[in-house]
Amino acid sequence: MKRIFIIFLPLIVLFSYFLIKTYFKADDMEKVEKPFVVILLGPPGAGKGTHAVELSKKLGLPHISTGDLFRENLKNNTQLGQKAKAYMEKGNLVPDDVVLDMLFARVSKEDCKKGYILDGFPRTIAQAKALKGKLKDVDYIAINLQVEDEKLIERITNRIMCRSCGTPFHKIFLPPKEEGKCDKCGGELYQRDDDTEAVVKERLKVYHDQTEPLIEYYANEEKVLSNVDSRGAKDIVFNNLMDIIDKNIR
Ligand code: ADP
Ligand code: ZN
Repeated sequence: MKRIFIIFLPLIVLFSYFLIKTYFKADDMEKVEKPFVVILLGPPGAGKGTHAVELSKKLGLPHISTGDLFRENLKNNTQLGQKAKAYMEKGNLVPDDVVLDMLFARVSKEDCKKGYILDGFPRTIAQAKALKGKLKDVDYIAINLQVEDEKLIERITNRIMCRSCGTPFHKIFLPPKEEGKCDKCGGELYQRDDDTEAVVKERLKVYHDQTEPLIEYYANEEKVLSNVDSRGAKDIVFNNLMDIIDKNIR
């Protein structure tokens, strides 16, 4: 009996080691030495915001959405908000210098020290180049969420969003448990002013003209870009995202 135990002991130890390693892999950013940044690419309505909220929880990294930051400034009627307002209402991009100042101020904060999840930034080649300068000693990956335009229009025009935490819901496919109320924080749900069909069409045009070229930009960097089909169920897409991230955390 004792001999059998001694023979199997190394196996048990090895098995436990792999079990523990798998379990703690993505949750534990503590052990990752270099900061890790996830860039979520994809058209409006592709699910960047939805998945960024979950990734943020799972990885323990802050979710940085330039759209949310602008909406926050709009709500508080700051100077920055006033600068961005007209562009956002029309579905156009806010000028790069305004976006870059705001974004870099945000990611310089203490909570971004271990990394962060970018949602809605970069959106132009100029923004991507500026970001690259900032990410010199940082591991980063870009994940491109793919969905065709027709589906995006349907998703966005049915989208409702939390005023407090920015979590998006879909009236039919991802409804909140209680009508008008956010599942996460109990905040009030509302429809964004720029989520109308006319503005969405303009946003998609702007996406194809100015943001889509970023896919090629990141494809040209070694081992940075992954594509994920984002048409399917939320949980399946999320698992695919986590698989990619797990493979890239060093
Ligand atoms: P979505 O991804 O659903 O289109 P966002 O919430 O990311 O929406 O952005 C809303 C609006 O905020 C954009 O249409 C644009 O006017 C402005 N905006 C957000 N991020 C950027 C950015 N990186 N560069 C320029 N404008 C931006
Ligand atoms: Zn909320």
